[in-house]
Amino acid sequence: MIPKSAQRFLDKITRTKWTRRQGVPIYAQAIVAHFGRDMNIAVSKPDLTIRLCGPRGFCAGVDRAIQIVVLALKAYGAPVYVRHEIVHNRYVVEGLEAKGAIFVEELDEIPAEHRAQPVVFSAHGVPKSVPADADTRNLFYLDATCPLVSKVHKQAMRHNRLGRHVVLIGHAGHPEVIGTMGQLPEGAVSLIETVEDADAYEPADPDNLGFVTQTTLSVDDTAGVIARLQQRFPNLTAPAADSICYATTNRQEVVKEAAPGCDLFIVVGAPNSSNSKRLVEVALRAGATKSVLVQRASEIDWDNIGDVKTVGLSAGASAPEVIVNEIIEAFRSRYNAVVELAETVKETENFLVNRELRSIELTTSDMAFVNGE
Ligand code: SF4
Repeated sequence: MIPKSAQRFLDKITRTKWTRRQGVPIYAQAIVAHFGRDMNIAVSKPDLTIRLCGPRGFCAGVDRAIQIVVLALKAYGAPVYVRHEIVHNRYVVEGLEAKGAIFVEELDEIPAEHRAQPVVFSAHGVPKSVPADADTRNLFYLDATCPLVSKVHKQAMRHNRLGRHVVLIGHAGHPEVIGTMGQLPEGAVSLIETVEDADAYEPADPDNLGFVTQTTLSVDDTAGVIARLQQRFPNLTAPAADSICYATTNRQEVVKEAAPGCDLFIVVGAPNSSNSKRLVEVALRAGATKSVLVQRASEIDWDNIGDVKTVGLSAGASAPEVIVNEIIEAFRSRYNAVVELAETVKETENFLVNRELRSIELTTSDMAFVNGE
């Protein structure tokens, strides 16, 4: 029979605000397990539904870029240099560093004694000056630019070849924008970020313009900017295919579906990840009461999470699935959580790695640091 004092203690502990937020402490669970049959108390966690978005997380371009670094390490040994964060995610970068990758911002940071080791260019793409610089320095480079970013480069070059001034819709300073602008001579591209920029834009030849966009923009915001440009410049030429990529579009679409009715919408991603930040905005616009961007479960403000019943969960294209799982487990330890899949489409895209690396075997355990076992 449980002593009365222990019963009172357990009654109290299961009713506290702390327990409702953090879950029943382990020592209290042990007492309950020990005296459980004699006690008539319910140690229940609050109910919660997690709406897990699909598709989420890694896109084919990010997956390929990470594979290139992993395979280069297998093929050529450490160190493998990577110019700029291979994808915008600290967890991925640290995982690759642990395998022997060294991240640099510029090629002159590669020491002379390591010039024979490969250097990988990030998925965001690079200006033409970067491979030219690598050639001058006699470096061996592997380009991990996403094929869909390369497609935008080609579209911009095509506009230029046909005598059009290129209007690039994107965010100033983003590496992809720097890379796309760097495909053409200085002055050949004008950057437009907002509808206000489109209003203020005064091109030298308004009848001879062609546009492209960054691949990771908000689909809705970009449509607004394009509409304003087309209104002002009716002869503006569109690219042959949409520049915003399938992964950005799909992740935004499913967030739109899942967000209405969510008390909280969590997007896993880095603060410098453009597509992840867009998902936060999309969730709020679609009706989530609150939306936050987090890199790890520990960044969730558990103390001030409030009375949540439905939580949406998605991940930007550079955020690994292991972190999504970590967040689900963190909720399960505090709530009686049920996971519902909100899926709009199945993605089957898969981009081949560089020719030099295709003969190297890539195992599940090579990628377990991001995908889990
Ligand atoms: S977000 Fe799109 S463009 Fe960027 S790496 Fe992924 S697939 Fe490529």
